[in-house]
Amino acid sequence: MNDLQKERKTIAIMIRMFCGAHHGTMGKDLCPACEELGDYAEERLNRCPFGENKGACSKCKIHCYKPEMRKRITQVMRYAGPKMITRHPLLAIDHLLKAKGLKRAKANAENKNRR
Ligand SMILES: [Zn+2]
Repeated sequence: MNDLQKERKTIAIMIRMFCGAHHGTMGKDLCPACEELGDYAEERLNRCPFGENKGACSKCKIHCYKPEMRKRITQVMRYAGPKMITRHPLLAIDHLLKAKGLKRAKANAENKNRR
């Protein structure tokens, strides 16, 4: 599984958890709003200019999501992110490492600017 496939799977699982808990769809199909969000996230991933080299979306400097969708995916991440650690540790750790890696790169760049 490459990074993009992992990312797709991670987002699908997170939306699934969020929708089940918040919209009463546990064990059923996603509600229309979350279905739409999932499709949108998938489309954004397909169009990501970084392709295989993309980092975590939350740390990306482009923020390609439109504001409404960004708000919704942020809620999903906030709810499902911590739960991923116990339910899907490998996917979650991969996601966290990526977020950390980008953060460090950014900090290094900022330190360089200060000198
Ligand atoms: Zn939903």
